[in-house]
Amino acid sequence: MQVHNFNAGPSILPNEVLYQASKGILDFEGSGMSILEVSHRGKEFTPVMEEARALVRELMQLDDDFEVLFLHGGASTQFMQVPFNLLNSGETAAYTDTGVWAAKAIKEARLFGEVDVVCSGKDDQYHHIPKNFSVPPQARYLHITTNNTIYGTQWASMPDPGIPLVADMSSDILSRQLDFNRFSLIYAGAQKNTGTAGVALVMVRKSFLGEARRSIPTILDYRVHIQNGSVFNTPPVFAIYIAMLTLRWLKAQGGAAALEKINERKAKLLYDEIDNNPLFHCPVAVEDRSRMNVCFVATRPELETPFLDFCKKENIVGIKGHRSSGGFRASLYNAMPEESVQVLVEAMREFARQHGEG
Ligand SMILES: *Cc1c(COP(=O)(O)O)cnc(C)c1O
Repeated sequence: MQVHNFNAGPSILPNEVLYQASKGILDFEGSGMSILEVSHRGKEFTPVMEEARALVRELMQLDDDFEVLFLHGGASTQFMQVPFNLLNSGETAAYTDTGVWAAKAIKEARLFGEVDVVCSGKDDQYHHIPKNFSVPPQARYLHITTNNTIYGTQWASMPDPGIPLVADMSSDILSRQLDFNRFSLIYAGAQKNTGTAGVALVMVRKSFLGEARRSIPTILDYRVHIQNGSVFNTPPVFAIYIAMLTLRWLKAQGGAAALEKINERKAKLLYDEIDNNPLFHCPVAVEDRSRMNVCFVATRPELETPFLDFCKKENIVGIKGHRSSGGFRASLYNAMPEESVQVLVEAMREFARQHGEG
């Protein structure tokens, strides 16, 4: 049965990745052992870790100051680990409040230093990305959430704050071409665009570290992970293996620039239907609409549940909106095929016909 999987995270993975991973579980590259059964420092896994780190560097075209780490604890641990390593007590960090995840990052940073929330989209339910805000020049860094998974907004262009830029790219990493070297630290949970749950990618400039005036627990110190080639302790080996296979797949698609074109097409297909179909509406400001998470609502609220039931019959899954915002959300991450977006669009048209529209 073919399912069209629009889940927001964990989410769809490329078929090839699942197929190769299933082979690796049973017999990893002819070793007679499963990838789950070998040492994280042994000759089987070491090349996996090295290739994963090298592929991130290559696909993001990172300069030599950057280190690539695969760390435990998901993106949520980074909400804390970033200020733990970078923000001294008494110092200020600037944060942009563009949604639930951004707000969680702000909450953690407040445990370590002063937080200046330089802008917030909260007053209009996070339906737009605030513009025209100013950043205090003495702030240690500016933190942004490049794509707001729950509300369906995305920074179309990156701010240029004149201080180091830190980004949570969990839900749009490698989905578009960016100058990643403009950042000082980038982190992302792997389970949306680059693999499965259990590991976060952290790309950090070495020159950005080393100024913390507090004791950092060893496992939380980025420098320790850098010195140990990202295997200070047992890393989540299977999640890293899946990430490596997904990164290979991303490279085979042509990398960030090629994916950006595909992702643009997919998003346009769906937004055009929402804008033209009288039964649906997208509340997000047009210029800030996410290409990854398309959030929309039913113009006749009584049709929300019937549409979800209709989708179920068409094998379209995962389009119920987040519990905090309601409505619908279709996530169009890198691995989402264009054909599945077409199926969703057809379903919306058919549903409108059945309800006397169009
Ligand atoms: C999903 C998500 C997170 C949380 O990731 P975890 O790996 O579950 O901690 C953080 N930030 C953004 C933007 C997300 O989409």
